[in-house]
Parts: sequence; structure tokens; C-alpha cells
Amino acid sequence: MAAAESDREVPSALCTEFLNFSVKDTASKWLQVTDLYKEVYHHLARYVPKIYCLGPNLNPQSEDLLAQMLLQAPLEWYLCGEDPSTGLAKLEQNNQPSQLCGHVFKVGEPTYSCRECAADPTCVLCMQCFLGSVHKEHRYRMTTSGGGGFCDCGDTEAWKKGPYCQKHEPNISDSCQEDPLAHLSTDMIARCYNVFSVVLKYAVDMLTWDKEDELPPGLEPPDRSDTYYCMLFNDEVHTYEQVIYTLQKAVNCTQKEAVSFATTVDRDGRKSVRFGDFAFCELAKSVIVRNTSRQSKPLRVQVMHSSVVAHQCFALKALHWLGHVIGYSDALRRILCQVGLERGPEGENSSMVDTLMLCDSKMWKGARNVYHQLFMSSLLMDLKYKKLFAIQFAKNYERLQSDYVKDDHDREFSVTDLSVQMFTVPSLARMLITEENLMTTIIRTFVDHLRHRDLQGRFQFERYTAQQAFKFRRVQSLIGDLKYVLISRPTEWSDQLREKFLEGLDTFLELLKCMQGMDPVVRQVGQHIEMEPEWEAAFTLQMKLTHIISMIQEWCATDERVLIEAYKKCLTALTHCHSGFADGEQPITLSMCGHSVDTIRYCVSQEKVSIHLPVSRLLAGLHVLLSKMEVAYRFPEQLPLSELSPPMLIEHPLRCLVLCAQVHAGMWRRNGFSLVNQIYYYHNVKCRVEMFDKDLIMLQAGASMMDPNHFLMIVLSRFELYHIFSSADCRKRYNRENANKDVVQQNNTLTEEMLHLIMMVVGERFEAGIGQVEGCDEIKREILHQLCIRPMAHSELVKALPENENKETGMERVIDCVASFKKPGVTGRGLYELRPECAKQFNLYFHHYSRADQSKAEEAQRKLKRQNGEDTALPPPVLPPFCPLFASLVNILQCDVLLGMLGAVLQWAVEPSAGHWSESMLQRVLHLIGMALLEEQQQLENSSEDNDVYFNFTLKMSRPGEAPSNTASVLALLENLQNAPHLEVHEDMIRWLLKTVAGIKTLRERSASTSTVTASGSRGQEETACDKDKAERKRKAEMARLRREKVMAQMSEMQRHFINENKELFHQSLEELDASTSTSLEHSPASPDAALACVGPRRSRPREKRQVVTCILCQEEQEIRADGKAMVLAAFVQRSTVMSKNRTRPPHDPKRYDPLFMHPDLSFGTHTGSCGHIMHSHCWQRYFEAVQAKEQRRQQRLRVHTSYDVGNGEFLCPLCECLSNTVIPLLPRTMGSSSCEQPGLGQWLKTSGQQIKAMHSAHRKLQPVSTVEETVEEECPAPEVFTVDYIPTNPYSSTIKEMLTTFGTATYKVGLKVHPNEQDPRIPIMCWSSCAYTIQSIERLLVDEKKPLFGSLPCRQDDCLSSLARFGSACWTAACQPTVQGHFIRLLAALIPDPQVEASPCILDVDMLHLLVSVVLSYGSVHSQDSSGLSVDAVQLHLFHLITVAHMVQILLTSGPEEVTMEQESGEAEGGEEEGACRLYNTLRTHVGSSLPEVGSGWHLWRCVKTGILPYLRGAALFFHHLHGVPAPPELHALCPGQWEVLCGYLSLPSNLLQLFHGQQELLEPLLHGWCTHPGIQQTLQGGGVLVSFPRESNSLIDLPDDYSALINQASSFTCPKSGGDKSRAPTLCLVCGSMLCSQSYCCQTELEGEDVGACTAHTFACGAGVGIFLRVRESQVLFLAGKTKGCFYAPPYLDDYGETDQGLRRGNPLHLCHERYRKIQKLWRQHSITEEIGHAQEANQTLVGIDWQHL
Ligand SMILES: [Zn+2]
Ligand SMILES: [Zn+2]
Ligand SMILES: [Zn+2]
Ligand SMILES: [Zn+2]
Ligand SMILES: [Zn+2]
Ligand SMILES: [Zn+2]
Ligand SMILES: [Zn+2]
Repeated sequence: MAAAESDREVPSALCTEFLNFSVKDTASKWLQVTDLYKEVYHHLARYVPKIYCLGPNLNPQSEDLLAQMLLQAPLEWYLCGEDPSTGLAKLEQNNQPSQLCGHVFKVGEPTYSCRECAADPTCVLCMQCFLGSVHKEHRYRMTTSGGGGFCDCGDTEAWKKGPYCQKHEPNISDSCQEDPLAHLSTDMIARCYNVFSVVLKYAVDMLTWDKEDELPPGLEPPDRSDTYYCMLFNDEVHTYEQVIYTLQKAVNCTQKEAVSFATTVDRDGRKSVRFGDFAFCELAKSVIVRNTSRQSKPLRVQVMHSSVVAHQCFALKALHWLGHVIGYSDALRRILCQVGLERGPEGENSSMVDTLMLCDSKMWKGARNVYHQLFMSSLLMDLKYKKLFAIQFAKNYERLQSDYVKDDHDREFSVTDLSVQMFTVPSLARMLITEENLMTTIIRTFVDHLRHRDLQGRFQFERYTAQQAFKFRRVQSLIGDLKYVLISRPTEWSDQLREKFLEGLDTFLELLKCMQGMDPVVRQVGQHIEMEPEWEAAFTLQMKLTHIISMIQEWCATDERVLIEAYKKCLTALTHCHSGFADGEQPITLSMCGHSVDTIRYCVSQEKVSIHLPVSRLLAGLHVLLSKMEVAYRFPEQLPLSELSPPMLIEHPLRCLVLCAQVHAGMWRRNGFSLVNQIYYYHNVKCRVEMFDKDLIMLQAGASMMDPNHFLMIVLSRFELYHIFSSADCRKRYNRENANKDVVQQNNTLTEEMLHLIMMVVGERFEAGIGQVEGCDEIKREILHQLCIRPMAHSELVKALPENENKETGMERVIDCVASFKKPGVTGRGLYELRPECAKQFNLYFHHYSRADQSKAEEAQRKLKRQNGEDTALPPPVLPPFCPLFASLVNILQCDVLLGMLGAVLQWAVEPSAGHWSESMLQRVLHLIGMALLEEQQQLENSSEDNDVYFNFTLKMSRPGEAPSNTASVLALLENLQNAPHLEVHEDMIRWLLKTVAGIKTLRERSASTSTVTASGSRGQEETACDKDKAERKRKAEMARLRREKVMAQMSEMQRHFINENKELFHQSLEELDASTSTSLEHSPASPDAALACVGPRRSRPREKRQVVTCILCQEEQEIRADGKAMVLAAFVQRSTVMSKNRTRPPHDPKRYDPLFMHPDLSFGTHTGSCGHIMHSHCWQRYFEAVQAKEQRRQQRLRVHTSYDVGNGEFLCPLCECLSNTVIPLLPRTMGSSSCEQPGLGQWLKTSGQQIKAMHSAHRKLQPVSTVEETVEEECPAPEVFTVDYIPTNPYSSTIKEMLTTFGTATYKVGLKVHPNEQDPRIPIMCWSSCAYTIQSIERLLVDEKKPLFGSLPCRQDDCLSSLARFGSACWTAACQPTVQGHFIRLLAALIPDPQVEASPCILDVDMLHLLVSVVLSYGSVHSQDSSGLSVDAVQLHLFHLITVAHMVQILLTSGPEEVTMEQESGEAEGGEEEGACRLYNTLRTHVGSSLPEVGSGWHLWRCVKTGILPYLRGAALFFHHLHGVPAPPELHALCPGQWEVLCGYLSLPSNLLQLFHGQQELLEPLLHGWCTHPGIQQTLQGGGVLVSFPRESNSLIDLPDDYSALINQASSFTCPKSGGDKSRAPTLCLVCGSMLCSQSYCCQTELEGEDVGACTAHTFACGAGVGIFLRVRESQVLFLAGKTKGCFYAPPYLDDYGETDQGLRRGNPLHLCHERYRKIQKLWRQHSITEEIGHAQEANQTLVGIDWQHL
């Protein structure tokens, strides 16, 4: 292969070229030529192939260096006409930068938008600008950028106010909009122009070049080599895994190389995977193509000549260079724009910018990115050229979009994505609409791409293919563009804008016409449908268009002429859709209660019906605007009102509503779920504004123009209920009708739905234009009704409210009027609660309630009323009056047909025997009556003249019914029902109705007798304040009346008829209006008189007490006895670094590590925890075997994971499901033998020395002779009372022995991460060490939580500590005795030098509590040989004192210099201590020498000792307390002063600790000397090792910033450490040590124990011994990890102002640190509960178990 040679040859060949090359000469030559273009091309042709692409592996650094020297430098020199280092500096100096910030966002960088001031949500600021802007104090939104896009700071069109930050504030002295070219010489401009033309031309030539083997003219290399690249291109079809697999096969590379290739292809869009001669590359190509063509189209591969690739590489470089150079000066930028947009020889759309855009979809990703970036930094940054570019973009729009739709790359890699940068600028958008007809172009392009139509020309998505579906998804981005164009409403209209907008509207109506009636359904009878029809596509279209439709209405609302024209166009479109409506059919005549009407014959349940009616709905929206803008009153002559046919208007919306009712009634069950889903979305908050709501409005509009009786009869007929209510004796007939039970049920539901519909038609008046309301009343009412269901969090409310195109609900403006906010606690979230005074506005039949919402709200409101001691009636609320255009709707409430229907239902309720009647039917009827009564009452109260009130429901309801003979009136029926026993629930409501009737009667009587002037007098003086207001309103009302009269004159024939009938109506006034199961291990209170001591010969003997516990599995009681059945505690052992003071210490080699001495940095420990649940050992064993068997079966059946790893001994506690991995046996207390005569320290030292010697020689005998190397010293006679080979009887029963082994092995296995080995001598060490570590961690926890040492631990921890300590003292019985004795000897040798023990550690390298625990617990094995009557207690005390002295020495050695600023407290009676401390310190200095600083103050030294030793003393107290069961003195159960003395007393220590030393100075002095002369001391003190000082501070999780965006910003500048400066996709912060990691990504996977794991998992093994706590910054989510298989997500400690977290950062509210929640996470960590927490989370949510946590 040629590759290797050329790699080496290159540098030398180029070296000579390089040496002979002169930048200046080349540039000067260029300055003289006439055809610069030819010269430069010649230069590039010669050099580029020599610099780039010389071998298989690119060498970007040397390539860039050479390109800079040989290629870019001469260009720059030419440009400046002098040395560029001076020339460019001059340019920069003279530059007057534009006020645009233009900062281009990196992936993941935080962006800010102001919800109050941004023109639209795409207007964003970078962090620097935001922090210097006024919006910081506003309601802002924070998001992370997806990359691309730039900061809009300085763009006055982007912000309603505060467009500049402090930095970009324009200088007043700046003459604005000055031409930047003014500062440049003509020469300079010309040179610049030349060089930009050539370079840009070159880049365009090369990037759009599609030949693989030749170069454009002028670039052919002088000497052509014969090397090729096999180039692999990115597509969005093949997965990473497919590409990796294929590459391994095709080019024979390792998995690692293949991953790297695939990553590059994905990132840059292409990557050469092979270099060599043509055939060699061609071979690889054919393998790749063959391997990837099976399921889909193959991966794109090209074999390209190396010189082509080289020029393309430099072309990208050249674009970068252009971007760099124009950064020096706005003038250069403008010249580049001019060059780019200059029309080429081919005429229109032939500029270089056009060429690039039009080739966009043919380029690879990397090339696109580079030129898009250049566009952004040039064309889009220059206000003049931005406009010109926008025009070109609009001209090419259709082509670009078609290319994009065919392409498969994501939109962010397409040039079409730049649309947002131009279309959202209001002035540009308006210009493009008027001059380039952009609105029409976009809509037309969109419609052109949707080709699937049915016979009537409507869209049909039924059988569209995956390919079409893909295309459909892509084409939706056009709707996004349309939204940008429309997002800001015009404030001023020109005629041209009107014309083009209306033209666009025409096209839009064409689109809507294709949707009107699409996806029709027919009710399925008999068989269930076979295949669910496709419905999502149609709804997706509807959803995407929802905001567009709303925005078009808003545009219309800003101009009367546009509104009128739009109304006309829309009506024409609708008429067009309805042509063929009811043709040929004979109309039928309906008649009821003396009224009759003609209608068409149509049944929803039998014929086609569609949910999609966008044309009708748009018309409904425009109709409301006519009323709202009063256009209907002011220009009635221009409106086609007479063409309106109300029955036609309501027909389709009514069918749609009936369809919903029938689906509710179960009539469409056989049509499957697709219909149910459609109905759901029809009402859903995302769609309802332009679907359900508008259908209702259309019914209101139609009904307002009809005779109410006619309207109701048509409604009855469409609901297919006409036959029930129309017959003369319907009140009886319905009862007797013995129809099919299903049919009766259906009819009941339909009747309920119909009554509800009537309520909505009359009662929904909260949209401005329908009722007389303010804009915000509607949203207030929505919120109020949500909160009537239950208190809700901010995000829940947001979800329940419709968002506008800016993703705003408008909630913040009004929420405080209706709700009060309740802050969250440590868990949960903040909630809004309804203000009590708002409850009276509750409407049970609120139109946006689902049935479920309705019943929840009803229940909640009744409960509330009961609590307040009120009656439980839920009457309708008082409603605002209608606008005049809709005013006639109230007449529905008092029309004859309605009264007939009300009467019928009431009559059925009176005689309910047949059951063809439902309570909710009655409830609705009562509600309707209530609405009618309130209407009358309102009108009476607000009328100013006594004969003003036309509405008289009370009169109508007291008239008898018409049916056969005179039947009871509605009023009579009500009175009758009042006492019906079966209607108890409605009693309150009926009473309320009757009371209201009575109230109205008195009102009428009063107004009849007295003049109505007094009507308002009754309401008291508060009125006077609003008198002025009222007068104003009255004036308006009067004007409205005059206008109204004008309308009336213009109304159609039919309307006129109706108005004549109800004349008075239109004259009415319009005035506005823990517990543990172990009870036996108790801590009995101390006997108050005796001083308590927990250690030493004087230790208190607690009373003998039987310990009886209950097994949680078999419920039997069992006494804890050494010879009894073993009882065990479920336990969880884990490695821990929680207390580590040194996270850089590498993990130990588990095979060789000697854990005997714990280093004081506590870098790795073994923690044991327990849930405190007790079982028989045999019960537990049986349970565990069952778990194992179940797991085996499960693994065979399906590959489901569990939250625990049975193979590793894990199981869940059978009672509390707490994760456990072993059990601790419960042992009885050790009984100390008290004997009076005990040896002093000297005596004991002597005895123990003898004993150790004896053991040494005994052990030596045990070893095989060959291994004994040292010469055997003289045989040491053992003391007679010490029998070295005596084997003590084991006091424990066989089951206890077994459990001792079980727990010992488990601790060893987990603590060292090794395979279990019952023989390993390190087992006992690990158990003691775990005991000591657990005690230390609990001691720290108590300090951190500010709790007293005793009495505040949960029982489970008490139980755990006791069993750990007792287990530790017994575990030697399960091990080999000489081994344990050997441990004791080595442990003791660290304190008392023993020549036979080698390599004893220096005391600075020993954690003293670990030493104490180990030495005390291992002593048992030595004592068992002793028969001298030496008491264990005495020895323990000696050991304890000795270690305490050693710890004091340790503390003094590490105490460090005195802090000068400390204020010395008045030493009260501590003189002895201070003096003692000084003496000891000075003794140490004589031994250690100058390494110890001189310290004068004894106070300082004593203080160091006292604070430094306290954690150790507290730990020792916990240890001895749990070992011996001696109750603690009451003072230690509280946090009171004087703890020190009590603690020392409890530990049998003098409170002046230094007496321990000075009292035995002659004995201890030699030991001290030994400690201090250990070579390790000097080494450590001089900085050679880790120096830990005491007391050790508790570790905390890292400090987090208060503002979450600081974290996002930090993460956005974090780059993947492995892939050279790339952004990390999932930057993740370790909360333990603060490292930022590149998580969940191939690039940072590493191998751990033979498996590929992600960065987080790898990190936990070093940082947290397998346990990790992370913050996923992009997701705002806490991640807990344990081992490779366990993990869960946890709520982050960041909350928004509404007390909610934002996991996934979807809402974008500003987030701030909640200290309480962070402390809670920290506490979980400190108490080693992370793994437990994960276990509980996984048990609660099984999907968490399936996640591949190790890849995070
Ligand atoms: Zn900025
Ligand atoms: Zn700024
Ligand atoms: Zn603002
Ligand atoms: Zn049991
Ligand atoms: Zn448990
Ligand atoms: Zn870490
Ligand atoms: Zn990475």
C-alpha cells in the first residue's frame, strides 16, 4: 500500500517549497495581474493537493498550519495591501460594530426569552445580554439551545421594549445607519471585492462539485497522483449499530475504529474510511453497499480522487476564513454580502448565494453547516442585505422546500431552517407578503405536497405509505414558516397588504376546503370494524393549523375592511362546500307545541358524518368578530347577512355534536378506538378552540337568527329524540314504551346530552363578542373551574388551558384574582387553591368539563358546601348579558318547545316506576329552570323602566301543560317533586328554585307598585362610588341601542319576522354586570444514683434480661441465647467513600490489599445498614432459596430484570422490601467477669508482652519449617496461666456458627470486591472494620443533624450497631485462632513496638477508632487462652487509654499553627489541661524536631485536642455502649452543656485527658519516643503523604449555584474529553466531587471489568465505590446509580417560583436552588441510603429496571 510511504515523504517535499515561498512576493504578483481569478486558481491547484489529503489519516494540525502559511496568508496580504497583522488591526480599529449581538448559540447553551416583551418566542438572548437586560426582572423563559440561531439583542423588532442590553446600548453620538463602506479607501474596497469574489467562487465551485474523479477547470493539479478515498456519507435511515457492523466487515477495522468512523460520519456528514488505489477503495464500497441494501436503500458511498477531497477540504477552510475576516469589520461583511448576492451570468437566481442554497440538499452535513454559519454571520447580520437575502430566499422558497421534503436530513441541517431568522422579523415578513406574495407561496407549496385526495378533492390519508408519512412529517415544517410570517399582527394596513393577505386567505380557504368533511365515518352496525382507520394524520394537520386559523382571525380583527372581505370569502367557501347539500331529498315537517318547521331528512346514526369542519369553524370565528368589533352594527349593508341560511349554518356543527353524544351513549362501539380518540381530541385543550368551541359558537350564531322553537325541534330531530318529545302525550308514552333496554339507556343518555347542549347554547357567554365580557374573563373562568375540581399545581393548570401561538395561556395576569398560592414542603409541589369567594361562580355544566371532571367537581363543591354548613344545592351562576347580535338566545329558555320538554322530564320523575328516566336528566332540567329564573331575576333587577322586562319565565312555568287534557304546570310539578322521597339529593336544588320563584314574584310586585328607581336603592351605599361609572355605561348602552336599531333595519326577512315577534326583547337594558420489631434490645433508663461507665472494670452491669424477639416470617417468639436457634437481622453491606478525605487515592488491588489498618483519610470503607427486621436463620434461608428458585424460573421464561441481583446474594426484606444482601446474627450481651484485683498499666504491659512472645513462638511452630527464615530465638516460656495451645469451647450453637460465617463472608466479599472465601484471614478484619466505619458514619450523621449522641437514632440503627459490635466480638470463634491472634499482635505492635512484627505503620497512618474497635474485638481470641483471672474489662480499658493517648499525639502532631485571629476565651479552671497540653507538645518537639512548629499557647493546643478527639470519644462511647449494653447517662440524650465531662465519665476517662499521659509518663515516654521516631512521621509531616487533621469535617455534596442557568452555562462550555473539543450531548455533574462528565454517549464509554460502561458508571467506581449521585444538567434531573445495573431518577433540588421541578426542562420557568431539598439528597447520601432509595424506586416503577444504567 502506498499509504505508509506517502505519509513519510510529504513533510520533506513540502519543506523545500515552504522555505522558498514568500507570502509578500505572491501577493505582490497578484496585485499586478489583471485576471486575479486565474492566478489564484493556479496557486490553489498547485498547493492544495500538496497540503491536504496525503494519506489515510488526516493530520489537521499540520494541514491547517501549512494552509495558513501558503494559502491564506497571501490572500490576507493581498486584501490589506500590506502585512495583514497591521492591516487587519487597522480595519478592526476603524470598525464601528453594529448593535446586534449576533452571538451564535452552541448546543446546550442557555437562551432566554422574555414572556412579556419578546415579539415571539423565537426571540432570544444569550446569557451575557440577558444578565445585562431589563428582562432579568420580568417573567422570562429559559431554554437550552439546540445549536444554531443567534442572540437577538439589539434587534428593535424582536422586542416590544428593552431591545438592548447594557453592552449593546447604542451610543447617542453614533450617527446611526451610516454606510460602513464610508471608512474604506476605494482601493481597499476593490481589492476586497476581488479577493472575496475569487474565494467565494472557489468554495461554491468545490462544494457543489459532483464529479468524483476530476476537478473544475483551472484547478487541475500539475502532477496528478493516483490515490483515492472511499468516502462514506451520513443518512438518517441507518442506525449507528448498522454502520459500525458494516464498517467492521467492509474495511476490516476494529470495533473502536468503526465507532469513531460512525461518530464522525454522524457529526460531519461524511468520512473517508479507506485510502488507496481505485480498486482497493471500490472493493470497500461494494461491500458496504451490499451489506446495507437489504432492508432499505444502501448507505451512500463514493470513491473520490484525493485531489477532489483535498480541494473540498480547503473550500470549507476558505469559508471559515471568510467568516473570520469579515469579523474584523462591518465594511468587509457588507462587501462579502454584495459579492454573494451579485447576480451571476445566468440571470435571475444565479448569485453564488442562490447557487449554494439550491444545492443545499446535495451537500454533506459538514459543508452545509459551514456555509449556513457564514450566511448567519454575514447576510443575516447586515440589515441591508438581510432584506435582499430574504427576497432571494422567498423567490427560491418553493424549490428549497421541495428539495428539503425529498432530502432525509433533519431540518436543522437544511437551509430552509434559516426561515425563522427572516420570517419572524415583522417588517421583513410584511414586505415578503406584499412584494413576494409569501403567504400564498407557502400555503400553495404546502397544498402541492399533499397529494392524497378522495373523489371530492378532500385529503385522504387512509392508505398512505411510510414514505408518504415521512414526507407528510417533513412538509409540516411549512406550517411553521406560515406561523412565523403571521406571528406579529399588522398595526397598519396598506392596500397592497390587504390585497395580498386576502389572496393568501383565498389559498388558505382552498386548503381548508380540502379538509372540510375529510375522514368521514359511518356508524358500524352488526359487525365490529375490521381495521382501525387511520385518523392521526388528519388530526395532526388540524392541530398544526390550529394556531394558524386563530392567527388569521386575529389579523382580520385588526382591520374592518379585511374582516368584511374575509367573512364574505369564508361564507362563499362554505356555500361551495354545501352545494349538493340535501339535494333531491324531500324536506320533512316537524311540529310541536303549536310550532312547525321544515328540515332535511338526515340521521347521524345512519349516514356519513365528519369531525373536520374547518371552514364552518373559521366562519364562526369571524362571525364573533363581527359582533366584537361592532362591524355588524356599523356596516351591516356591506355584510351578506341576508344570504345566511341559519339552518344551513348549524347543520354540520350540530351533526358533529350529535356524533359525540351518540358515542357517549355507546351507539358507535363497533367503530373501534379510532373514533373514541377523535372525539377525545375534538374536546382536548390542544384542539377545542378551533373545533368544539367553534361548533358551539356556530350553533349560537344560527340559533340567534332562528325562532327558538324551530331551533329546538331541529336539535331534537338530529338527536333522534324528536319522536319521544313530539307526541301529544309524551309524558305518558315514554314511560310505557317497552323498548329494548339498550335503546332506553341510549335515549336517556342522548336526552342528557341534548339538555346539556341547550344549556351551553344559552349559557356560554364568556367569549368577548358573544357575551359582554372582558378579554380576561374567559381565562379566569377556565382557571376557576379547574380549581373547583381540586387545588392544582401551576404546570397542571397550564396543561388544562389552551396555549396561544406564543405558548402563553394568559394565566399569570388573572390567577391571583381567583386563586391563592400554597408553598410546597420538602416534597410535593406548590398548589393554587380557589379563593372561597369565587366558588359561587361555579357552573356544574361548564362546557369544558369532561364527564369525569364534572363528577369530581360536583363532589368537591358539595363537600365544601357541607363543610361550610350550607345547603348542597349547586345552582347555576349569574351570567353576563349577551352582546346584541346574540341577545335573542335567551328566548330559548322560555320558548314553548323547551317548556314542553321540561314538563315531560319532570312528569317522568314524578312517576319513576318504569325507570326510563335518569337522575342526571332531572338534574339538568332543574339546572335549566334555574338558568331561566336567574335570567328573569337579572333582567328585573337591572331594568330601569318597569315595563322593560319582556322575559317572563315565571309566568310560563305556571301555565298548565298542553298534553291531552290540562296537565300539571312545570311549577306544580316542581312543588310536587319537592317532597318526593326518591329525590332526596335534589331536594336542596328544588327548594332553591322555589325560593327564587317566590323572590321574583315579590320583585315583580314591588316594581309594579313602586317606581323602579328604588330597585337599586336596596343595594345600599356602595353603589354611589360607581355612579359615575354607571352613567358612562348607560351612555354606551344608549349608543349601542341606536346602532342596534340600524342593524335590525338591515336584517333578513326571516329575522325581521322574528324581531317583530319579540320586539320588546331588543329594548331591554344592556347594563353590564418507623417502628422496630425488636422490643427486647432496649435501652433501659439508667439508675440515676450510680455513675455510669461503659468500659473498664468499673463498668456498670446492666440487669440480666431475657431478650425475646419475634420472627417476621413465622411470627414465633424466640429468646436470644448463645446456644439457641439463630436469629438474624436483614442487612445491606456496601462499600463507601462517603467519609473519604482523599478521592484521588486509587482503589486497592483486592487480592493483595491488607485492610488491617484504616488510613485516617477513610478513603474506602465498608458500611453495614439494616432495616431492623428480624427472622429465624432457617426461616430466612428458606425464604432466600424460594427467591432464588423464582428468579431462575423467571430468567428462563422471559428476560426480565429485577431490582435486586439474586446471584450476588441480594434479596428484599420480606417485610419492608428494603434491599439487603446478607443477614447479621443476633448475639447475647457479653458478660464481663468482675474481679477486684486488676493489674495496673505497667503490670499489664509486662504480661501482655510475655503472652505475645509465647504466641509468636507457638505460631512459628505451626508453620512449615522451610518457610521460617529467621533464626529461632530462645524458646520463650509462656506464663503458666497462659496456655497457647488451649482450644476453648465454642459457646455458640451450630446455626449461630453458620450465620457467623455467612455474615463474615458477605462483609469480606462486598468490602473487598472479591469472590467469597471462607478461609481468607481477612474476614474478621473486614467485620471489625465495617463495625468501626458504620459507627463513625453514624456519629457524623448525628453531628450533622444536630442530634444528641444517644436516644435519637431510629431503632433499626441501634439494633444494627449492637449486633455489629457483638458479632465483631464473637467472629474470632468462626475463624482460625492463631490468625486472629496474629491480627491482634500486629494491631498492638502499632502502639507497643514489637521487634518481631515488621512494617508497623506510623501512627499518622492509622485511624484510631478503627484501631480501637479491631484491637478490642480481636482480644477475645487472646483472652480465651488466659486463665489467670485477668479481666477483659481491665485489658479493654488499658487498650482504650493507650489508643486515646496515641490519638492525642496524632492530633498534636497535625494540629498546625495557631490561628492569630482567634479570640481566647477566659480559661476557667482549664489551666491544668492547657499546661499539660503544652508539656506534651514540647515533649513531642524534642522527639520530632523542627518539623513541628513552635506553639506558645497552651489554650490553643488544648482546644485542638479537645475538638479533635471528640468524634473519636463519641465513636468509642457508641461502640462500648452497644458492645456491653450499658445505658448511657441521661445528659447524653440531649444537647445540653457539660457533655464533655459526662462523656469522659461514661468512658472511664479523666476529663483532663492529658492526665492519661502525665500520670504514667515513665511508662509511656518510651512508647512516645517509638511513635515519633518512626520514619513515616518525618515523611508525612514534610508533605510526603496525605496529612489528615482532626476533627475531620463531614463531607458535603458540592455547592450548587442558586440560579440553574449558571449550571446550564457551565455545562454548555463543557466539551467531551475524548473527542477533541466536541460538545457533549448529556453533560452530567457528579454532586459528590463536582466533576463534569460526558454521559450516555459512545465517545466516553470505557471498559470496566470486561464490560463497556458509560462515563457516569465508570466515574462511580472511582469516586463513590460504585454509588453515584449526579445531576443531568440538560434534563434537570438527579441520577442515582449503584453498581452497573441499578439506577433511578430523582427529583432535582431546583424549583421554579411555583414550587415545581422541571424535569426535562420543558416549561422553561426560571429555576432556583431549594436548599431543603438539596439537604435531603445529601442526607440520603450521608446515611448510605442511595442504594436503598434506588431499590424502592425500581420496585415502584418496573420500567426503571429495564434501563441500561451502565451506559449512562
Ligand atoms: Zn447576546
Ligand atoms: Zn446584548
Ligand atoms: Zn421583558
Ligand atoms: Zn421464623
Ligand atoms: Zn425490613
Ligand atoms: Zn465524583
Ligand atoms: Zn464524550
